Amino acid sequence: MKAITFQEIEFLEYEDVPDPHLVEPTDVIVRVTVAGLCGSDLHPYLGNERGIEAGTVMGHEFVGSIVEVGSAVRDFAAGDRVVAPFTTNCGACFYCLSGLTARCERGQLFGWIENGRGLHGAQAEFVRVPFADATLVRVPEGLDEAVALLAGDILSTATYGADLAGVGEGDVVVVVGCGPVGLLAIRASLERGAKAVVAVDRIASRLAVAETFGAAPANFDTDELVDVVRGLTEGRGADAAIEAVGTPSATRTAANLLRFGGRIGAVGVHSEAHLALSPGEIYDRNLSYAGGRCPARHYMPASLALAARDEKLIAGLISHRLPLADGVDAYVSFAAREAGWNKVVLLP
Ligand SMILES: [Zn+2]
Ligand SMILES: [Zn+2]
Repeated sequence: MKAITFQEIEFLEYEDVPDPHLVEPTDVIVRVTVAGLCGSDLHPYLGNERGIEAGTVMGHEFVGSIVEVGSAVRDFAAGDRVVAPFTTNCGACFYCLSGLTARCERGQLFGWIENGRGLHGAQAEFVRVPFADATLVRVPEGLDEAVALLAGDILSTATYGADLAGVGEGDVVVVVGCGPVGLLAIRASLERGAKAVVAVDRIASRLAVAETFGAAPANFDTDELVDVVRGLTEGRGADAAIEAVGTPSATRTAANLLRFGGRIGAVGVHSEAHLALSPGEIYDRNLSYAGGRCPARHYMPASLALAARDEKLIAGLISHRLPLADGVDAYVSFAAREAGWNKVVLLP
């Protein structure tokens, strides 16, 4: 089959690789119809995360049809249209049962093979899915597959951010970073009854889209962010902030805009050694900070329902639908943050 494989930093290949086959009786093989290109695919691509082996098939977001079914699979059959979260999960361990599916004791990340262990990704014609019954979710009838794909990662991540930040009825929320996750976090916050959402970014075109998602845009470079937020909160600061960038400066921006007792939900992927908040600041301002990898499988039923309700708006995030053969070039444009490259999906 054709696949996009990792070779070395900033070097991918579109090449022929062996078709995947059933390994465990709980596996299925899925023929991929849509595969996402995600901001977190750029971490290994650009070398910010190391250890991925040459030859690993990239990608962790996909929708497709089941073509082969292991003998122990109960809930799915050949022909079913399914969407996967970006990690597999067993459905039976402590973390699966408590909803933290991304930390399943037997879970694996799609598109990551290291020291000979791991799972190939989905930027390919076919992908093997372990623990299919617990991992996969059926795509609702009539839903655009590229929109359904978002439930497996970024739409669920956005909702998780709102949960980590404790967003509730009447809150004023700051969303730091208006990439696809930040934009969806605006929707997730409004779904939870937020009174207002201030969207922070420095790119005007992103802020314009944030406005269509229901936020008040605030430009990091040209607006006095503190004044904007204080103006909406009788001078106090925001109740909650969702940080969707993953840098110390984004953490600082979120913290600076919160009231006493404010809460940060961090879903940006961080790799720095220290939190950009001091214990003293947390104590003096009664701040809360929570972050981590989204347990996407836990959120997917709700995310698919939201995707169906807001399908047209959410579909607007998808800027490029390209053949898989154009995937290597798509990484280059996406990594360079070329204007208009928002969410990219590849069609094998
Ligand atoms: Zn992703
Ligand atoms: Zn588990």
